[in-house]
Amino acid sequence: MTAPELFAAFAELPRESVVEVEGTVRRSEKAQRGVELAPASVRVLTRAGSPLPLGVVDKVGAELDTRLNHRVLDLRKPAVRAVFELRTALLASFRAAFLDRDFLEIETPKILRQGAEGGATLFGLDYFDARAYLAQSPQLYKQMLIGAGFERVFEIAPAFRAEPSDTIRHITEFTSLDAEVGFVEGAEEVRALLEGIVADALRATRATLAARGNSLAERIPEMRVPIPRIPFPQVEEWLGRPGSEQDLGTEDEKTVGERAARELGADFYFITDFPTAVKAHTFYAQRQDADPTRTHYFDLDFRGLEITSGGLREHRLERLLANMEAAGVNPAGFEGYLEPFRYGMPPHGGWGLGIDRLVQVLAGLPNIREARLFPRDRYRLEP
Ligand code: ATP
Ligand code: MG
Repeated sequence: MTAPELFAAFAELPRESVVEVEGTVRRSEKAQRGVELAPASVRVLTRAGSPLPLGVVDKVGAELDTRLNHRVLDLRKPAVRAVFELRTALLASFRAAFLDRDFLEIETPKILRQGAEGGATLFGLDYFDARAYLAQSPQLYKQMLIGAGFERVFEIAPAFRAEPSDTIRHITEFTSLDAEVGFVEGAEEVRALLEGIVADALRATRATLAARGNSLAERIPEMRVPIPRIPFPQVEEWLGRPGSEQDLGTEDEKTVGERAARELGADFYFITDFPTAVKAHTFYAQRQDADPTRTHYFDLDFRGLEITSGGLREHRLERLLANMEAAGVNPAGFEGYLEPFRYGMPPHGGWGLGIDRLVQVLAGLPNIREARLFPRDRYRLEP
């Protein structure tokens, strides 16, 4: 093709059309990657419609809703793609950190007859002639596998929660990174394992992104272990309500994040020894023998955002049944879960970590929805 023909062909071609170009690659100071292509011929593979519902190269940002409505075009933006390179690196790094430590990867069912955490946030579905639910967490199954003698297990899989609230940190379908470990001596052993795995995963993610020239690499913080452990009573004091045994709301978590940064210089920190009153419905959470008003449960937070909850589970059948009764849960619906407790269950503990929240904070995204390709929330079921 002659130069004027080429010019005409390109000039009338709508943006985002897909073309095949043949030509000569040559050095260029002006081009972004230092090379440019001098075209000899162009073939249009697919012509894009116009106008575009969402600009791909525009400098002006669109509203998040508009972006999510036209997500595929949105994902073409290099800055948006970079988030998913981070996500890929993070998931690969976590998997490697678990495999390095001899964990077995498990895949537990997502269609259940019973939920783990009570009915409020369960999605129900028709299952032939029966009622079934989407899994909120693999909690009960990973515990059962500890009963199977799988001493260290992990799972990276979707979790579903019918969260009616519209927040920047909740979605209805998220990816949970769960782990469970048998024969642990105490909650501290679980915390030490968790922080070691997160620290390794962050370091590897940073290295992978840096090697790819992804500028998000610089945002990945170094996690210096051990990170601070802040007992719940200390948190209550910071919040000016000592001994209140109330759960932590979003604003509370933010306040704790600010105090942890100011007084401990910490961005990552544990909140330990959650009160039994706060975990009343979490029947599998072990209460402390020395003080039954406290549990062996903890959260891992990053700058005021809960990333992980975990702790020691109750492995003694009598106490587990007592916890169920106190929580108003009928054990009759949980026979499959309870069976291993009758026939030899090691002491164990573990955690659930929200991958989307971690991607959100690492990539500096204002809204968790941007951490998923096609997010689901109260109002969004497509695309
Ligand atoms: P929150 O109090 O923030 O609603 P939670 O305590 O109900 O969270 P857990 O049951 O402890 O959540 O789940 C473990 C982890 O899974 C959380 O720390 C969080 O990272 C993630 N997670 C839980 N619910 C959601 C959700 N709706 N959307 C995204 N991530 C979630
Ligand atoms: Mg939690």
